[in-house]
Amino acid sequence: MAGRQCVLRLYNDVYRRDLATPYSDAQLAIFECGTAIGELAQQRWPGGVLVGFKPWERGRAIAATKRLLDDPDVPAIYEAAFEHQGVFVRVDVLVRNDDGWDMVEVKGSTQAQKELFRLDVAIQHWVLTGAGIRVRQAGVLVLNRDYVYPGGDYDLQALFRLGDATEFCQEAAAELEAQVAEFHRMLDAGQPPDVSVGDHCFSPYECPYYGHCTRGMEFLENPIDDLYRLNGRRRDALQAMGVETIADIPADFELTAIQARIRQAVISGQPWQSPELGRVLEEPEWPLHHLDFEAWQPALPPYPGMRPFDALPFQFSLHVEQADGSLAHHEYLHEENSDPRRPLAEALLDAVGDVGSIVVYSSYERTVLHALARDLPDLSEGLLALADRLWDLLPVVRNHYYHPDFRGSFSIKSVLPALVPDAGWKDLDIADGQAAALAYEQALASGDARVRERTFGALRDYCRQDTLAMVQLLRALRERSAAG
Ligand code: SF4
Repeated sequence: MAGRQCVLRLYNDVYRRDLATPYSDAQLAIFECGTAIGELAQQRWPGGVLVGFKPWERGRAIAATKRLLDDPDVPAIYEAAFEHQGVFVRVDVLVRNDDGWDMVEVKGSTQAQKELFRLDVAIQHWVLTGAGIRVRQAGVLVLNRDYVYPGGDYDLQALFRLGDATEFCQEAAAELEAQVAEFHRMLDAGQPPDVSVGDHCFSPYECPYYGHCTRGMEFLENPIDDLYRLNGRRRDALQAMGVETIADIPADFELTAIQARIRQAVISGQPWQSPELGRVLEEPEWPLHHLDFEAWQPALPPYPGMRPFDALPFQFSLHVEQADGSLAHHEYLHEENSDPRRPLAEALLDAVGDVGSIVVYSSYERTVLHALARDLPDLSEGLLALADRLWDLLPVVRNHYYHPDFRGSFSIKSVLPALVPDAGWKDLDIADGQAAALAYEQALASGDARVRERTFGALRDYCRQDTLAMVQLLRALRERSAAG
């Protein structure tokens, strides 16, 4: 899979692992989650035997697999090991049948038909077939997004969904075989292949050698990739014309309205604002309730009524701003290992008064409010009433203001520092939503009271800054609008 992304990545994986950037905490957490899902999925085929061994003990793992294959009393093998033409694989689940074996690759996702996953299975299928195993069926096992957890033990038949990939594997075999031969030639050449960085460094995943490959490289100011939602066709057209920076885009090149504004702002070095900005900023009703949720998306639903990857809000921050500029802050953080939805929703309903708009930045808060209303029927009326009062600042910024320092992004993390240079998240221990969700999950799992206390403090600081950012941003926009 590494070689299909980039042959230099494969070369480095084989010979220069030391050049890779170490995995981040977030990536490690994703791997851990994948392992937990894999182990649970194996229980769908009970009675199987696990082939252990360390990643480098390949020969021992292959020999153990061989013994289990030969034992007719073994109904399934977990992490079976095979090698063919120098390609070594471990199969998540191998199930014995009357006519050979079924192989299953488990993914912590809900998309069984994803091309990337099917290719992963196809490589394993090619190795097993080459190693003389009769494979009847090959499939990708994913979490079933329609499964609603009723409580108690998971129903593993319903929690997971198997997508068949047998035909895909058979059709991909010839291409894979040719590719493996090509990779061997590259690896035997005695020197790293000559590959430059490009889009492929981030597709399908960010390459761990990007830091190494770009070391000392000078990056362009305002590259065309900073154009908001530039599609592949237009990007290709610009590249074919030799255009690399926004400032070099010809005036008659077709752009969307937002992209044209970005180009104009880059060329002039001046912010742009629409004549409608002042009027739009008058739309929300006082007092303004600046609201932000933090949530995590557990792959395995922890509480009844939840489905895989449902968002589970655990925290909110609310700044209530009066027309005279005075501010009051309210917040809730669920610090127990229990379902946060009801206490969070009740605290929110208590904190938000009956009048005034609820200012948010993105549609996420609406999604969370609707999900809470669905899960808590007795609070649904009040929660849906809050959703009716939402006023989203994101499209206001996107449609009515642009500063060259946004660099093509309308994320509040890009927008606020451009308008209020001293404000922001840079001095905080937690600086983005993904880090917040991860820190929360780890704090709950920690038995150390000091770790929990420190993390909960950092989460409070982070979420408070998110809503303070909206207060600061609105004020800055009002000032700019008044100044014309
Ligand atoms: S950073 Fe890009 S060029 Fe370098 S090894 Fe990775 S994918 Fe290849």
